[in-house]
Amino acid sequence: MSFSLRTKKNILITIILLGGLAITLKATHWFYLEQGYQDTAERSKQQMTELVNFLDGSLSRYESIPHVLSTNPLLKNALLNQQDGKSIQKLNLYLEEIKHITESLDIYLVDALGVSIAASNWQKSYSFIGKDFSFRPYYQQAISGQLGRYYAVGTTSNKRGFYFSYPVYEQQSILGVIVVKLDITEIEQQSTGIARAGGYEFAITDPDNIIFLSSINHWRLRSLTPLDQSRQYAIHASKRYASRVINELTLSPLYDAGATDEHNLYAFSSLKGQFDYMETHKAMAKAGWSVHIMAPLTPIYQSLPLLMTLYGSLYLLLALAALFGYERRKNLLRIQQANDLLEQRVQARTQDLQASNRKLNETQDELIQAAKLTVIGNLSASINHEINQPLAAIRSYAQNTKTMISRNQTEMVTDNINTIISLTDRLAVIVGQFKSFTRKSQSRDSATDINQCIQDALTIIKPEIDKQGVELLYRANEISGQVWADNVRLQQVLVNLMSNAIVAMQRSAPKRLSLTLVLESQLCIKIQDTGSGVQESQMEKIFEPFFTTSDRQGLGLGLSISRRIIDSMQGSIRVSNAQTGGAIFEITLPVYSSNKASPDHASQGDSFNEQKHSS
Ligand code: ADP
Repeated sequence: MSFSLRTKKNILITIILLGGLAITLKATHWFYLEQGYQDTAERSKQQMTELVNFLDGSLSRYESIPHVLSTNPLLKNALLNQQDGKSIQKLNLYLEEIKHITESLDIYLVDALGVSIAASNWQKSYSFIGKDFSFRPYYQQAISGQLGRYYAVGTTSNKRGFYFSYPVYEQQSILGVIVVKLDITEIEQQSTGIARAGGYEFAITDPDNIIFLSSINHWRLRSLTPLDQSRQYAIHASKRYASRVINELTLSPLYDAGATDEHNLYAFSSLKGQFDYMETHKAMAKAGWSVHIMAPLTPIYQSLPLLMTLYGSLYLLLALAALFGYERRKNLLRIQQANDLLEQRVQARTQDLQASNRKLNETQDELIQAAKLTVIGNLSASINHEINQPLAAIRSYAQNTKTMISRNQTEMVTDNINTIISLTDRLAVIVGQFKSFTRKSQSRDSATDINQCIQDALTIIKPEIDKQGVELLYRANEISGQVWADNVRLQQVLVNLMSNAIVAMQRSAPKRLSLTLVLESQLCIKIQDTGSGVQESQMEKIFEPFFTTSDRQGLGLGLSISRRIIDSMQGSIRVSNAQTGGAIFEITLPVYSSNKASPDHASQGDSFNEQKHSS
């Protein structure tokens, strides 16, 4: 299967578009996830400071209580006189009172061996009196002369608490340890309130990564990291969590670029599904624990599809707009190129046409001239006669004059010379007319007097009319009018029509050629003869080039050129046969008026007033 170039191009564009879309979606996903991680980390940092400050503040309120209590002589007395029931009881009451005042969970005095000898809960069923606390690190810290801090689940009370302890001195020697146990639940609740307000969860872990406090109930007393058996034994031995069983929390790390040294990404599975958290931790050295802030990542994940849709759509919109713009530009360029090409071709063609037109006009001019000269050629015999006649007359008048001078008949000489002058004048007129007729016309139209034009044409044709014995019927100047025409060319048409008429009448009798002017809305010149007329079948043919029935040297171009000349003057030429026999050629031309506003000459009828022209 072969694809067209266009289909291949479309497939390529689609692949590039989809590739771009995939990159955009991936980039959006990556960028906003990174951004989300950074924002969450930044927020977690602030929340961490806030939470740690709160926890520090809450604990430090109790920190000094054991120290203050240790200075009370009651404690010293009790430790020194442990058998003294009265002073022990007094101390019990005192500790109970202090417990109420300080809102602590329990306060108790432990002797140098770690056994409690007095306690605020002296009358409770879970009274600490007589209990051995020597295993507790807070006891060990205090008995060695330090302020003890520890948190654990009470072995007797089974309650989670934070312990502060301080040694009770008798001069330089330590007699025992006073312990204040805080109710950690209260601090946990308040911390949970803070965390919930910030939209995160928190967990406080011991150095073994076991959660001691948390905003999530079932995270409590569970291990963040896997627990092997040796660790489990060690934890059990420390009794920090009394007899509670410690399990692992199903937290699995999310191996993602978002995890750093300060932050970890965890997926936490619960019955409600899987939740992803960003974990930020900070060690609180004084308290001996680590605070973990768990910021949920769900809001980031939830916003990603919307952002990806938005950027994907934006990308598609821009890509399609760019594609559309590119295609549009390409089309415009293509149209522009096509237009330029077309324009070039039109210009070239116009130039060709102009050149051909020029050539055609030149050829046409040549043809018109050739046709004209043919007519003149045909008329040459009669023209010869027309010129020879006055020449012969001049010669005989000159001869005569010579004789008269020799006979001294001077009075008649003047008359003879006058006649010779008038004869030469006539010759000059004839020769001048022929000269102007035969010259090559430049086809320049101008206002032409129709009577003058007919007169000029008659000067050319008259010798032939006379030679052939044709009777000419024409009333000169009966109707006057002007047409917008080339005078010589219009003469050529008239000479041609009259010459044809004379030929047509060669074997006719009588031979009568009539010339009539009719002026209506247009000017009509009628040339009628008494010849053979035109056969109906040849009415149109005679106007075709090279159609001739003439046996003289006709080219058959006369009528076709005449029609062309008249057409160029916005006129028309047509032929019909007279009822009496013979042909009628009618030339119709628009009347020229120098003042277009003035109406043309009114019709003067087509009355055929005969006027005989004698030769
Ligand atoms: P040519 O005179 O050289 O033959 P034209 O084009 O002038 O060429 O005339 C074409 C033909 O038209 C003539 O040969 C003739 O048959 C016919 N024709 C022209 N004028 C007349 C006329 N007045 N009477 C009859 N036939 C005519």
